[in-house]
Amino acid sequence: MRAFDFSRAESVGSAAQHGNAETAFVAGGTTLLDLVKLNVMRPAAVVDINALPLKTVERLADGRLRIGALVTNTDLAHHPEVTRDYPLLSQALLAGASTQLRNMATTAGNLMQRTRCPYFRDVGSACNKRQPGSGCDARDGINRMHALLGGSADCIAVHPSDMCVALAAIGATLTLEGPAGEREVAFADFHRLPGDTPHIEHDLAADELITALTLDVPLTLDASLATAGSHYLKLRDRASYEFALASAAAQLKLDGGRIHEVRLALGGVATKPWRASEAEAALVGQPAELASFERAAEIALRDARPLAHNAFKVDLAKQAIVRALRDATRAARQGGTDTQESQA
Ligand SMILES: Cc1cc2nc3c(=O)[nH]c(=O)nc-3n(C[C@H](O)[C@H](O)[C@H](O)COP(=O)(O)OP(=O)(O)OC[C@H]3O[C@@H](n4cnc5c(N)ncnc54)[C@H](O)[C@@H]3O)c2cc1C
Repeated sequence: MRAFDFSRAESVGSAAQHGNAETAFVAGGTTLLDLVKLNVMRPAAVVDINALPLKTVERLADGRLRIGALVTNTDLAHHPEVTRDYPLLSQALLAGASTQLRNMATTAGNLMQRTRCPYFRDVGSACNKRQPGSGCDARDGINRMHALLGGSADCIAVHPSDMCVALAAIGATLTLEGPAGEREVAFADFHRLPGDTPHIEHDLAADELITALTLDVPLTLDASLATAGSHYLKLRDRASYEFALASAAAQLKLDGGRIHEVRLALGGVATKPWRASEAEAALVGQPAELASFERAAEIALRDARPLAHNAFKVDLAKQAIVRALRDATRAARQGGTDTQESQA
């Protein structure tokens, strides 16, 4: 591990002033310090932002929920406004990592976590994301965990976050602060597809800090609680703690037996948190039943590009979609309360 300078930021403004390509902010440290030890990230300076006043959750007048960047994954998952209005987010957070990690991990840190691609994390391997232009050892390597959707010739690394899959379905806005002031970015536009610049992973400048995440008005607030439901399903190699092989976040609103509105997002199979918009369009107006869910799953995966070792994930992702839609429907029929197991 390379030595680095360490300081503590006392205000958001001073933190942003520290920001540059050689500096990293540290929140929970659960990603950053791992990668520094592996020599994958080599900041000359680390700025601790834990003293900043970014730990509150507040309901805005327009019904949205604003979450400070330093709210921990545990606090967010158990926050009463989240469990009541965004159970999908709570389920996704609780399906991620372990209790100890969630106690340290923060909202912004989770948004900014790096891929778990083993070739990215091994400095002896070629990786265009870690070192632009060096190649991609995953493409002809062991690519069992890699992406089916959104990949490029340069990168097939999966985005690892569970929380971000729920956010893709819910809809959210990020607040960023830098020397030029504050700006907002839609969550859907924050993470970038790899293309031929996989080292550029998001829309955050080096001198900017994430200060907040604001969730869209929940589906349940503009409808009867009796007709809206959601479910996050994560399929993985082991139940204790493990990244997703495939996951699906589903939120829907029923009108009688038909789907009135639906949001569907996928994890574990794509290079960024993946909103399945075409599958959503195909579901609207359809009966809330297995045949509709299976058709949507086919549409969601029709552009999948399997590699040598991950073709099994095509079927796995389809099953995740069908089951998440089925359980979201059951939750809607039970009045929005989903008591089913969220992990498998
Ligand atoms: C063993 C293990 C298992 C895990 N399993 C899962 C899992 O199943 N699902 C899942 O989703 N995640 C999983 N994780 C990842 C975990 O969720 C992340 O490590 C965590 O969310 C990162 O948050 P943090 O606050 O610790 O970030 P840090 O490590 O402090 O920071 C991570 C990155 O974010 C940047 N950053 C932090 N805060 C800000 C800010 N406010 N503005 C701008 N940049 C910022 C840092 O500079 C750094 O680059 C796992 C991690 C481990 C170690």
